[in-house]
Amino acid sequence: MRVNLKTLGCRLNEAELESWAQQLQADGHQIVRDCGDADLVILNSCAVTQDATKKSRYLIRQAHRENPRAKLVVSGCYASLNPEEVGASLGVDMVVDNADKSRLIEIVREKLDLTSMPVFSTEPGEISLFTLGRQRAFVKVQDGCRYRCTFCIVTIARGEEKSRPIREIVSEINTLHGQGVQEVVLTGVHLGGYGSEINLRLEHLLAAVLESTSIPRLRLGSLEPWELTDEFFDLLRNPRLMPHLHLPLQSGSDSVLKRMARRCKTAEFAELVERARQTAPDINITTDVIVGFPGETEEEWQESLKFIEHMDFGHIHIFCYSAREGTHAARLENQVPHPIKRARSQALQRHTQNFKRKVLGRFLGRTFPVLWEDPKETTADGRRRIFGYTPNFLRVETLADPGQELTSRIEPATLGSIAQTGTHFMAELT
Ligand code: SF4
Repeated sequence: MRVNLKTLGCRLNEAELESWAQQLQADGHQIVRDCGDADLVILNSCAVTQDATKKSRYLIRQAHRENPRAKLVVSGCYASLNPEEVGASLGVDMVVDNADKSRLIEIVREKLDLTSMPVFSTEPGEISLFTLGRQRAFVKVQDGCRYRCTFCIVTIARGEEKSRPIREIVSEINTLHGQGVQEVVLTGVHLGGYGSEINLRLEHLLAAVLESTSIPRLRLGSLEPWELTDEFFDLLRNPRLMPHLHLPLQSGSDSVLKRMARRCKTAEFAELVERARQTAPDINITTDVIVGFPGETEEEWQESLKFIEHMDFGHIHIFCYSAREGTHAARLENQVPHPIKRARSQALQRHTQNFKRKVLGRFLGRTFPVLWEDPKETTADGRRRIFGYTPNFLRVETLADPGQELTSRIEPATLGSIAQTGTHFMAELT
């Protein structure tokens, strides 16, 4: 889902907006700048002055006018002081009181049903999977997919696989590095299919990038699990290839996977994950799961849940199945009723938060090099709140002293505690 976030007023409002953006992105949603492009608009209102109240009212009306089809959620001081007035405004779907702000995304997720399958099963995941900034850049290396997963419109919409030449990719990475980028994320519609039509494989590309560039961090976008080879696991030992793999599972039930025409059964998936963990012990494995695929029985759903529970995923992007015209799955019988899909998605959301805490808990007290982003805000004592990522893509927050320049640098930090939101670590610079 595409979400547009707006705020008025104080630093706190801005910080809340940032935290909602993080949570939304972690859930697989895309943050968009233009209200007109959004499926959901969240507005953090203000009432500190008469003028702020007036502007808040204006912003609500304007958001509805610009995009009447988008859901509109309003929170903040103006909405909390005047919930009835705001609730009755044209287009407002939900008012979230200030007291519930820290749970806003959770509430919106439950009430407005935020999880539906993206049009493209892989690309939006890539975008929302990684946050960008001056320090991180995507490098698209291929397009198209030769497989025919029955839910996926990509093969129909994007056609045959087409890969960029290695030297062009290497040169782009060297240019980005020269501009200060410290980490590149290789992406593609079907990244593991890199080179299929030019007699190359992804491993050749990875080896060339590691050899012919000095980019400190090389990260991979979504990869189909069945494409991990011996050579790939050898490359995974290289400390510049980041130990984070996003391997879409889609379902933890073999009969559902068969209907999806996936090429990897659960036992093979578990084996690959085990092998990745043996190769790179701190590796973070994240995944996509589609709930309510046509014909998914209660038994299959429970089987899926049980498998997922044992996989220790660092994050799960959950998508409610939605039929895409032109795909085989859209023509299957026994489409799962919406309320069941929604209940399954909500159940998995709750589990996901617990799985994530468990995974984060394993790293508490450890020290990792962190690639730091731009500072967010300055605290009363002049320190700046700053976020960054560990090699295995765990989000980290710290406070930098005045004059301490961290942006775009890789500096170590010790992971002291898990933030209240459960989404990231609070860390100390070491
Ligand atoms: S591997 Fe399957 S899900 Fe991935 S792009 Fe190809 S058809 Fe779609």
